[in-house]
Amino acid sequence: MIDTKLTYAEQLRRRADAIATICVHGGDSPDADGALDPPIVLSSAFAFASAEHAARAFRGEEEAYIYGRWGNPTVDALEAKLAAVEAAEAACATASGMAAIAGVVLASCEAGDHVVAPRSMYAESARLLRERLPKLGITTTFVDGTVAAYAAAATEQTRLLYVETPSNPTLGVVDIAGIVELARSLPRRPRVVVDGTFATPFAQSPLALGSDLVVHSMTKGIGGHGDVIGGAVMGSRALVDAAREVIVKGFGGVLSPMSAWLVARGLRTFALRQERACATAAALAAHLAAHPRVAVVHHPSLPSHPGHALANAQMHAYGALLSFELRAKPGGDAVDAGRKVLEALRVATHAVSLGDVRTLVVHPASTTHSTMPAETRRLAGITDGLLRVSCGLESTADLILDLDRALFA
Ligand code: PLP
Repeated sequence: MIDTKLTYAEQLRRRADAIATICVHGGDSPDADGALDPPIVLSSAFAFASAEHAARAFRGEEEAYIYGRWGNPTVDALEAKLAAVEAAEAACATASGMAAIAGVVLASCEAGDHVVAPRSMYAESARLLRERLPKLGITTTFVDGTVAAYAAAATEQTRLLYVETPSNPTLGVVDIAGIVELARSLPRRPRVVVDGTFATPFAQSPLALGSDLVVHSMTKGIGGHGDVIGGAVMGSRALVDAAREVIVKGFGGVLSPMSAWLVARGLRTFALRQERACATAAALAAHLAAHPRVAVVHHPSLPSHPGHALANAQMHAYGALLSFELRAKPGGDAVDAGRKVLEALRVATHAVSLGDVRTLVVHPASTTHSTMPAETRRLAGITDGLLRVSCGLESTADLILDLDRALFA
């Protein structure tokens, strides 16, 4: 899917062109008052036209807004746009990425069911699977992210093959089509769910590769401005509606209309933002890969990255995130060296989260992934010296200068 005969800038422009109009206009429907932007409807309840209308609405015989947790026009407008951008039949917006992930697992599995998931993944998703769901009788085997490892871990009880690609924070690439093929060969035909947060719908289309559902943290590249917490589940109407019943209606993980409006506004500039952030990430990766103070760079754009060929085959772009390890100084402490770099940054910001207009840099082992057992971190390749960079929209040259200065500080 990445045409290596093109320059990367041309590839990014082609992808941006393919979705730019959908980002601006997709899912929009005419407003009765002629407003170009969907109004923010904050009402928690909606009046019935008559007692008969109320009864019909509750019996599901008539489409109607009843109560904000069951449906809201601003959230519906966002869901229509999300589905258009992801080319999904349906989308469900949720209160956060974690609400989407927890809901999808709980909508797919019950006590006695088994999940296979990659070792390298967002720590809170891993914690959900490792610590919280076993209390409900749902168990997980963590594997190294190859199709063979998923196949070896699958049992008769396996109900879900969970994928996060590229993975947080080591940018591991999992073969989505390979996992789908595996699922189709297993006796219970487990569901394939892909967390596409790192790629965003700009860089990857898991549904087109056969996955049943894709989940996103909209807090990240989709919202894109670092001013909202939200999540999304997308796929077939039947599976999305089933997830909505659990996540939104049952557990109350509803997205607020204000947040929905902010995400929809963010989506209108999504193609432009991602084109730029992805270009910056590839430029930083190439620069750092040749840097004397850097030992390893993880970014699928690099031919040295183990997922490079797979990324070429299944992604539209290599994404806006990278991570790297500092070269150890003799007798030096990796965590200390990383801390010095973080504290010397002036253009990039030392903060968690990702997909912001600002470039954000973080030390996963002591922050985002500190809840992961040290041995799991080691197996997932999350070393003590690893720094994660989420590229924003600043000048690439300014970011390179900033990193260079910090690396020699
Ligand atoms: N998935 C990935 C890959 C993430 O990095 C994160 C958060 O960093 C989440 C899911 C959770 O999203 P949220 O913070 O919106 O709940």
